[in-house]
This record gives sequence, C-alpha cells and structure tokens, in this order.
Amino acid sequence: MTQKASDPISMRMAAFRRVLQLEAGRGHENKAVVGGMDRFLDRWRSDLTDDELQELSTSLTATLTQRKYNSLSVDQRERWVHEALTAIGDQEAFQETRNEPADQPLPKPRVAKPQAPRQAKSVPTKSSPEGLSLDSSPTVIKGVGSGIAVKLEALGIRDIRGLLYHYPSRHLSVSQIADLPQGEETAIVGSVWDVGVLRMGKGGALQSTEAVLGDETGNIRVLWFNQQYVARYVRPGNRLLVNGYFRGFRGKPTFEANGYEVVPDNEDRLVPGSLLPVYPATKGMPQRTLRRIITNALDTWLPRLSDHLPEEIRERQSLLDLVSALRGYHQPDSPETKASARHRLAFDEVFIRQIFMLSRKHECQSVRALKLTTVKAVMQEFIAALPFTLTKAQSRTLKEVLKDIAGGVPARRLVEGEVGSGKTVVALAAMLNAVAHGHQAAIMAPTEILAQQHFETISQLLKGMTRPINEPNYLVIEIDSMQKPLTVGLMLGSHTKRQKQDMKRRMEEHAVDILVGTHALIQGDVDIPDLALAVVDEEHRFGVAQRGALGRKGRRPHLISMSATPIPRSLALTVYGDMDISIIDELPPGRKPSQTKWLRPDQREQANRFIRKEVAAGHQAFVVCPLIDESDSLQTSAAVKEHRKLSEDVFSDLNVGLLHGRMNLKEKTAVMERFRSGEINVLVSTPVVEVGVDIPNATVMMVEGADRFGLSSLHQLRGRVGRSDAQGYCILMAENPSEDAQARLSIMEQESDGFRVAEEDLKLRGPGELTGTRQSGVPDLKLANLQDIELLSAAREEADVVLTRDPSLELPEHKLIAEALRRLTARTEEEESDAQAAKAKSRA
Ligand code: ADP
Ligand code: MG
Repeated sequence: MTQKASDPISMRMAAFRRVLQLEAGRGHENKAVVGGMDRFLDRWRSDLTDDELQELSTSLTATLTQRKYNSLSVDQRERWVHEALTAIGDQEAFQETRNEPADQPLPKPRVAKPQAPRQAKSVPTKSSPEGLSLDSSPTVIKGVGSGIAVKLEALGIRDIRGLLYHYPSRHLSVSQIADLPQGEETAIVGSVWDVGVLRMGKGGALQSTEAVLGDETGNIRVLWFNQQYVARYVRPGNRLLVNGYFRGFRGKPTFEANGYEVVPDNEDRLVPGSLLPVYPATKGMPQRTLRRIITNALDTWLPRLSDHLPEEIRERQSLLDLVSALRGYHQPDSPETKASARHRLAFDEVFIRQIFMLSRKHECQSVRALKLTTVKAVMQEFIAALPFTLTKAQSRTLKEVLKDIAGGVPARRLVEGEVGSGKTVVALAAMLNAVAHGHQAAIMAPTEILAQQHFETISQLLKGMTRPINEPNYLVIEIDSMQKPLTVGLMLGSHTKRQKQDMKRRMEEHAVDILVGTHALIQGDVDIPDLALAVVDEEHRFGVAQRGALGRKGRRPHLISMSATPIPRSLALTVYGDMDISIIDELPPGRKPSQTKWLRPDQREQANRFIRKEVAAGHQAFVVCPLIDESDSLQTSAAVKEHRKLSEDVFSDLNVGLLHGRMNLKEKTAVMERFRSGEINVLVSTPVVEVGVDIPNATVMMVEGADRFGLSSLHQLRGRVGRSDAQGYCILMAENPSEDAQARLSIMEQESDGFRVAEEDLKLRGPGELTGTRQSGVPDLKLANLQDIELLSAAREEADVVLTRDPSLELPEHKLIAEALRRLTARTEEEESDAQAAKAKSRA
C-alpha cells in the first residue's frame, strides 16, 4: 500500500476510479464531480506528463477522449463508466507488468522451460510442511526467496495464511480464440506461432510486440502496445496465457494484451470457461509470479487444512467446505463455483466477528446484575411532568430499555437515533427508574459543554420538580412518588480539586443519586459504590475496551450507550454486535429537515445576507471554523480571527459571540448561557459544538472549511439546527475541496436522513474508516459485504448457537474457532491500544 501511495500516477488512477464509482453509485446523473465529468476528464488528462500519456493504454486513451459525457443517455453513460473502470484496471495491471523486467537481468530469452507436472507439486521439493504451520513464513513456499518475501510483506502477506487468504481482486474468463467477446477483458491460452517487434508511430518511435497465437479454434494477432520488451521473453512454441481485449486494430482483428505468462504445456486448469485470478499486486511483483506462488501455496497447504466450521453449520447454511472454497475462489472453474466459494469465505469473515462480539456479550452477561423493575408510579409522574409527549419511537425505546434493566443480567444496549430525536429524555427516564430503587446512576458526555447541558436539561425537563440549591453543581429533584428527594451532581474535569473531592465523597456516601459528567469520569478514579445504570452519550467515541472499563468498576452496572451517529443496521451488528440495539427513527412532531447548501467562496456575501435575515427574524446562527487536527491552538486562533472579522466588520451591528477550546469552563459556560438566552445572535465556534448541543432557536449552521470534515461530523453539525418547528439551514463553505470532499459535500446537499448519510459514508470510506469503529475490532472485511444483512444475521445466529452450547469454546470441534478468535482478539487489542496511544498523543 505505502509503495503505491507514493506513486502519483497510481494515486491519480485511484482518484479517477473513485469518481467513476461514485458516478455509478449516483445513477449516472453526472453529479459525481463538480462541473461534470467532461471537465473532470479534461483536467485529469491535462495533469498527465507527456511520458505518462505515452504509457496510457489505448483503451484508457479512448476513454479520455470521450468529451460529451453530458450528452449521453443514462444507458450510454453506464456503459461508458463501465468501460472506463475496466480500462483503469487494465492500466494498473499494465503498470505492474511494466515494472517487472527491471528486476531481472536483461536480456534473458526464455525457452520453453520444462516445468514439473502439477500433480507432482503436492510433494513439495523445497521444504516439507512437517513442523510448519500456517503461521510459518512464506519463504517455505516453493518459489519464494527473501526478495519476494519482502514484496509479499508490502502486500501485507507475512505468513502462509496470508498467502492463502490473499484473494484475487477480480477474475478474467478464459476464452477460445473463435469466440472472443468484444470489448470485455478476457484471457486466452494458446501456442505462439510467431513473435516479433513492431515499429509504429512517427519514425517507428513506438515499439510494440506482435505475436500470432493459436488454439484449437483458430489463430489471432496479439499486440503488446508499446511493450517491445515482451518479445524478449516470448518464443515461438511457448504456451502462452495472455489477458486483454479483442478489438479491431487498423481493421485487423487483434488481441490487445496487457500481460502474459508462459504456462507449462501440461497446465490443465485454464480450460475455456474457467476463471483466471487477478491479484492485488505491487511493484516488482507481476501477476504471473503471484499466481505461481499462490498456486504452490494452495497445492501444498490445502490438503492439510482442516475446516474450522463444524459440518452441522455448513449443512444448515449450505456452505462449501473450506478447502473447496479457497481453491474455488482462487481458481474457479466457473462463475458459479466462484460465487459459492466467495459466499463461504464471506461467511467466515462475519462469523468469526460475531463469535468475537457475542463471546464478549456472553462473558459480560455471565454475571448477575440488579433487577431494576419498572417503578410505574415514578415513570408516570415523570412522563406527565414533561413539557411534551414522547414520540412513539421514544416510548418504544424506553420500554426496551426498561425491560433490559429489569432482567437479572447487565444490560448492554445501544440507542441509536437521528440527531435531535430526543435520546436524552429516554436516558433520563431510565436513570430515574434506577434511582427509584435506591441505587445510583450516571450519565457521561464527551465534552464538558455537553455534560453541563445534560445537567441543565434535567432541570429544564423537570422544571416543576427541581429545586435548585445553593451549590452550583448540585440539583435536587422532588418526585411525589418517591420517598426522599434526589440529588443530581455535575462533575467535570476542569472543576477544582476541592470540588471534585467533595463530589467524590458525596458519591461514596451515596449523597448523590445521579452523576452527570464527562468521559473523564470513567478514566478517573471516581467510585460510584452503588452504580446501577450508566448512560454513555455519543457512544461512537468509545472503544470496546472503554465500554468494558466502566463495567469493571465494582458490580456490573447496566450500560446504555447513545449514539447520534446513525450507523447502518448491518454495520451496527458488526461493530456493536456485543450490544442490543434500539433505534429512535422518528423526530418530534413539527420538525422539518434542514436545508443544506454548499456555496462557492464567491457566494459568501449571499450567505452573510442570509444569516442577517434569519437573525432579523429572531433566530440565531452558528459559524463553525475549520477543523485543524494537528493543533488546537491553530484552531483557536482561526476562531479568534473569524470572530474579529465578523464582530468588527461583517456583523458589526449584531452580537457575535466566541467559543473555543482554550477558554476555561467558566468562560465557555457564560458564552453558552448568553447564546441560549438569545443575547448572542451569531456564535463563532471551533468544532466543539459538533456533538449534542441543543439550542432550539438557532436556525443557521454555517460551516467554514466544510471540506475538512467527515460526513458524520458534518451531519452532527447540521444537527445543531432544525431542533424546533422553525426551518433549519446548513451552509457549507469550502475553498478548494478535493474530489473526496466534493463527494461528501454533495451527499450532504442531497441527503438529510442520517442513516442514508451513514450508508453513503460507508460506501465512500469503507467500514474501517467510519468514526470510532476503527477501535472496535472491525473489519478489514475482504469479501463480506456489510450491507448484506442476510449474511450477517445468518452468521450471528450460528455464532450464537455455538456459544450457547459451548460458551468458552472448549469442545474439540470448536478448537479451530477458538484459535481464530484468539487471533482476532489479539489483533483487536493491538489496534485498540494503538488507537488509545494515538488519542493520548493528540491530547498531549
Ligand atoms: P438528541 O437525540 O440529539 O440527543 P435531545 O435529547 O438533545 O436530542 O433532544 C432534542 C430536543 O428535542 C431537546 O430540546 C428536547 O427537549 C426536545 N424533545 C425531545 N423529545 C421531544 C418530544 N417528544 N417532543 C418535542 N420535543 C422533544
Ligand atoms: Mg444528545
């Protein structure tokens, strides 16, 4: 990977491919890039140097000269995008092939070298597998020396297992010469009748290799465009495998080849209709080398492989056995074989992750927890006291939560909801129910502002029942149906040492019933002796390990996580597979989705006028400054500067406030209070307002440097407005967005539904990149499609069957599953500690 990233042409290829994929994903509406595909193509091509242009394959050149994408019909566009994607794939394969000769002494004509018959390979000559395992170095495989091992390492292959599981990225079908498909990449196997160098172009500047290849159905001219060196490796009489395109070239039927491989005469796999694997490769590691090494690995190791999936599961799920699946996915004899092989291997990927998640859940639920049955009188009184009625989704979720905490095992539930769907009320109700039993509860938020807001929300929602006392961080609630008043405490990292000690003491004495605080709470050493229920707000910021940490404090409390980053259900099953999930899929009545506009820098005036208009109508606006990951102080100074500009110049007649991370809590609180009360019209802020802040009267969210934010952050930011019945607006400003950023911005314009945004995010970035999931043991899934809910559910069901019967995987038939689980656990822990270390570093 790293090698490739430093190669600018391959990066640009990848960008091109992403645009095409995005375009395809958007129904070919020519909306994947700003300005349209035609302009993009022009730009892309003009970025290439002359040398690079020279090296483009004819198919890619043809693709690039397509100038009228805009005028094509959707069908034509679809075809064109498909062809362009294929052309890019070829070009990449071509670049890999080109890199090869440099690694070999030149010239070295290769005469049809007799090779050992395939059958004989099952007795490996280089080294016998005795005493070796799948964890052994690939160098024990025939054909792998230390030089090749280094290159394999670059592909992430460190052991034999890595080789067996280095899946082809695609397959080419093997065709006969008499019926070569038009315009589709294919492979042919035939004998070389003739081969030579062909000079083309001005003064013969372009040298290509030309050959005549024949099989039992006919002969064809094969051309390696601009690759004269091929002639040095191919000899008449060779049996040759070539891949490429069948096309007319200056009227003559020609096979335009992208690669070649001299194959032994007794090669029997490559029959017409079979599929040829194309592997993710790297510099100096051409397809033919990878194919040879992987074939050797399969031949030697498959006969010794045992299947970790019990036969019973394979039968129930109609899955191939592991050996057939691996062979069948690398070297399928038909598309059907490939599909069923893929299905089995994909099942494995999600199955073992479900085992991982469910064994955590089983482990956690093997202890007893308090039975917090529903105290009806308290719940009724609480609901009646609210200034609104709960939505159906809120009531349903509350019911699920209450049922969970009434069972005798620790609840582990994730409450997912669209931003503004009202998760806090549900959490509060559950906490009241816990304290109604005489125990303690806690709610944790990721930022101090948010924790403070929760504290205030409690007093707001329960206005009629709360009694402020003379201490700023305490609140007393009087509920008629409870015998004694409740005390709510607020504890933040920035409180003074004395305040904290005081709070700790009262917690320990059980003089505080509900504790509100930041995540610092769980990292610190607060002891909540009678903690029965913990609510973690904005759960997506938590790794699996952290979730566990709280559970270890004293008795296992019930744990409710709340996430406003909607996660597609399928991903949730994988990432939060150790939890049950409730979804609040409904907004309080009267809410309208916010309107989102992505503006060009020259439309700034317009944006400012708009903010002014909203303020005149009695509303308020956020202006969020760009995210600067590297430095908090840079970020702060950007906000200070923006605030100066807006307050002294642009909005000099308005009240412009400022909020940033370098302010102390007192200053932050004061600003938030002035904003909440309406005194501040426009609040300039660093991205700290991202999560959770609830100011219903704010209707405009303007994000500067919107291209620097990820989709879920943008959606969070947008969620700060549209929290009342007034229409909300989100204005995205971006100076010079990259292609990826452009894709994100236009998704934001088009999608208002958080779940849809999350799905797009999943498509754009892949599951491993989604916020917060990296620490959660997820998935570099290679084959499984996370949208495949059926596969996920089947794997989860089977994993549950296994663990219910054998919770600690001790039975002999589960030995291999236990081993796979250990490997995944080790890797996850490694990743989590890396992530923690990175976090700690960024905090320092
Ligand atoms: P989130 O789910 O984003 O955490 P909050 O819990 O902050 O949302 O609630 C968003 C806003 O909606 C708050 O101002 C809250 O008081 C209000 N709210 C919650 N539930 C309802 C409801 N059923 N009807 C009307 N307003 C509600
Ligand atoms: Mg919230």
